[in-house]
Order: sequence, then structure tokens, then C-alpha cells
Amino acid sequence: MARRPRRSERLPAPLPSGAAGTRPVVAIVGRPNVGKSTLFNRLAGRHVAIVEDVPGVTRDRHYADTEAMGKPYVLVDTGGFEPSSEDVMAASIAEQVKLAVEECDIVICVLDATTDPTPADREAVQMLRQVADKPVLYVANKADSPKKALGAASHYELGVAEVLPVSALHGHGTGELEERLAEILPEPPPEPEPVAGAGAPRVAIVGRPNAGKSSLVNRLLGEERHVVDHRPGTTVDSIDSLIVRGGREMVLIDTAGMRKKARIRKGVEGLGVIHAIRSMERSDAVVLMIDAAEGPGEQDAKIAGLAEERGLALVIGLNKMDALDEDARKRAVRRTREILSFVPWAPVVTLSVKTGRGVNKLMDALEGAIASREKRVTTGELNRFFEEVIERHPPPTMKNRAVRIFYITQAATRPPTFVVVTNQPRYVHFSYQRYVVNQIRERFGFEGTAIRVKYRAKRKR
Ligand code: GDP
Ligand code: GDP
Repeated sequence: MARRPRRSERLPAPLPSGAAGTRPVVAIVGRPNVGKSTLFNRLAGRHVAIVEDVPGVTRDRHYADTEAMGKPYVLVDTGGFEPSSEDVMAASIAEQVKLAVEECDIVICVLDATTDPTPADREAVQMLRQVADKPVLYVANKADSPKKALGAASHYELGVAEVLPVSALHGHGTGELEERLAEILPEPPPEPEPVAGAGAPRVAIVGRPNAGKSSLVNRLLGEERHVVDHRPGTTVDSIDSLIVRGGREMVLIDTAGMRKKARIRKGVEGLGVIHAIRSMERSDAVVLMIDAAEGPGEQDAKIAGLAEERGLALVIGLNKMDALDEDARKRAVRRTREILSFVPWAPVVTLSVKTGRGVNKLMDALEGAIASREKRVTTGELNRFFEEVIERHPPPTMKNRAVRIFYITQAATRPPTFVVVTNQPRYVHFSYQRYVVNQIRERFGFEGTAIRVKYRAKRKR
């Protein structure tokens, strides 16, 4: 089929195994309309877990925990983080690609088999060739037929080693792409040994540029800085820092970049969320910093949704209160609650890193949230309470099936996970499930952490 040029580069080599508990990040890049999001859905589609009850966030998703041939990775569609149309002019495609590449382990660069390479493609490829140490897989999409697949060959003119023809729409060639990906993906590291007492909670401080993340980290660390983990991982070396507060240790994740930070140009800032996804991958808790004058944006909603999905503790810091008057402060809190209404359990703390006011409150809320995530309620206590709940409001009949709830138990912590045993696990109405979650929260708190409630059938004897 496609003839290989003499000037070909080497094919990407497999990555070394990463640190335990981390998944490599694979970013799909390319100019608008080449089919990035279609490819994303194709690659992620089969594996994406259906997540209930995070309105607005999961419907339109741009990252997914997925796998290729059994090797887990996080797939990111950078198109989903593309700036609005005016900003596209300001931020060149190359700049976006660059930012995405810095944050990921493997790149899938999407080209269009039905056209010759465009200047934007050239710019992107040029950029990718400069970052020599990152494996890049080139695909020519929209190769719907063998004839169109031949069009992929025109992209060898870009001087790349291999261009895989695929049709994201019809699924042609995507299996081969997954195989290639699996060849490069590191072997999944062994599960970390569960050592009692070891491992202080890990906290990711995330948010949009300028929200005050670095200022907060610098304030928390002061001049004293304990580097606990220098991970020469598969990408950017990340440095975590240990803080001790009231005798309790916490690890702040990825503090290196925050201390000596590079300014991110407006327009490409959305891609910063990839960084957040990466840090959250390794964290137990998230502090989402928001500039109160700006309020939460789409990226903030995505991050909050991800915290819920991954079952993390979450505290929202509304920063720069010093710059607002009393009215504006109230409005900022209200708006934040509204926009992030799908995480009503996450405390919103107002603060000013600049003056220091509220920083302690934020850290208290964070400790509380972490404690909630680790909390365990005994089965006895749960069921005594649950009897009242069911008596007050028994589960409704659904599709002519009488639903009976036998008992409830907390099966796990981090996040707190409850199992409700019932005769009809598939016929517990959604609104009733919500009622159960609300009742558990009302009675037992769990403020600051995502919780899970699952429904199981009673085992037959
Ligand atoms: P993005 O902007 O790069 O994310 O591109 P999209 O995934 O939104 O796709 C842009 C357009 O190309 C949409 O109309 C898709 O249906 C179409 N498209 C994507 N993949 C293919 C493909 O494999 N074949 C064809 N014929 N069209 C495709
Ligand atoms: P990052 O991009 O999220 O790490 O944000 P930085 O910590 O670099 O802060 C961005 C800008 O906001 C800097 O000029 C800070 O001095 C300023 N800043 C941070 N916190 C506050 C605050 O509480 N009040 C005010 N007025 N400015 C702040």
C-alpha cells in the first residue's frame, strides 16, 4: 500500500513502565474538523464507564479512562479544549499542540486522508518532530474506502515514519491503531502494596491560570520545602511536596511547575485541564481554585465533574475575595453554587491567598473532606437509620415490580461506597436512588467527598 519514504524516522519505541497508580495520558491532536472527537469516541467508546448523575459534564466528554489491548490509559481529545473561534486566531495550532504534548505521554496526530497536507498540518508535524522524546502516532482519518486510504500516502511527504489510514466514523483501521498504541504503552505497573498507615493523603491543587494556585502552594510551603517524590516518569518530572498541618501530613502534588511557573497564553489555557487530569490521577483530594471575580468556567465544571467521577474529595476555593465588595462576594458564592450544582457536597470556601484570610478555613475544609472520604459507618448504625428512611418513604413500584430493600452496608471507603441489597436492583427508580443518597448525606454527612451507592440482588441460596 503506502510507500515508505527513505527519509523516514524511527517508529516510536515502547515507554518504560510508569510509577504505580498512574496511567499514561494519550492526547489526540490535529487541526479542527479532521475527526479528533470522532476518533476519541471510537477509541474510548467501548470502554467508557457510564457515569450517572453528573449533568452537563459527562454528556460532552473530552477525556476518558480507557484501555488498548488491556493496557490502561487516559485518552484526551484536545479538540474539546479548543479555544473559542476568536481565540483560535490568536493561538496557533502549533502552540496548542505544544501545550498538549507537554502534558501527555503519547500523541495521536490526526491528519485528513481526503486532502493533501495543509500548512496547519505542516506546522503541527514540525512541532511534534521537535519534541523528539515523545512517541507520536500519525493517522490519516476519513479513509473510509481502500481508495481513500491511498490518500493517506500523500502525508508521507511530511517526512513521518508511518501514517496509519483510519476511518474513525466506520471503525476501519482503528483496531490497528489500538495495537500500535498498545505496543508503545508501558506495561501497567503492579498494584501498590497496601501498607497500613503509609501514604499521606495526596492533594491536587487545580484550576484555571491565574486563579491563585501557585500563590497558595507558595504560602502553604513557605520557604521550607520537602521534596518527597521526584518521579522521573514517562513525562514531565513531577515534584510533590509534603506539608504537615496539626500533626497530619499531606502531600501536595506537582508543585514544581507551580513554584516556577511559565505563563500560559490566553486561548490555549483550556489545555491546562490536561494537567489537572494528570494530577488528579494520583490524588485523593482536589482543591479547585477559582478567581471569584471570574467565577467558575467550563474547565472548572469539568474538573469538578471529574472529581465526582473518580470518587475524590473536593473543596472549592473562591479566591481573591480581597478584591471584591460584600455584594460581589455573595454573588460569587451564589454563582459558584449554581454552576457547580452537581457537586452540592463540595464545600465552597471564600479566601484571599494574598492577605491570608480564609486559607486556614480552606485547609480545615480540605482535612474534613479527606476525613469524610475515609469515614466508615457501621452496618448496624446504617440499618437502624435505614429502617426509618424506608418506612417514611418506601421505594415505589416500577414497571409493576414491587421493590423491596433488605439491607444496606458500607462496602468500602475512599470513596465511601454503599451497597443496598434489594430484590430488584434494576428497578429502583432513579429519583429514589437520589433520595437514598440525600438521606445518607443528611444523616451521616460525608461533606466534601463523592460517595457511591450501588444496588445488588440478594444472593440465592
Ligand atoms: P474534530 O473537529 O477534529 O474533533 O472533528 P470531528 O470529530 O468533529 O469531525 C469533523 C467531521 O468529520 C464530522 O462531520 C465527522 O462526522 C466527520 N468525520 C470524522 N471522522 C470521519 C471519517 O472517518 N470519515 C468521514 N467520512 N467523516 C468523518
Ligand atoms: P495560578 O496561575 O493559578 O498559579 O495563579 P497565581 O498564583 O500565579 O496568581 C495569579 C495572580 O493573581 C498573581 O498576580 C497573584 O499575585 C494574584 N493573586 C493570587 N491570589 C490573590 C488574592 O487572593 N488576591 C488578589 N488580589 N490577587 C491574588
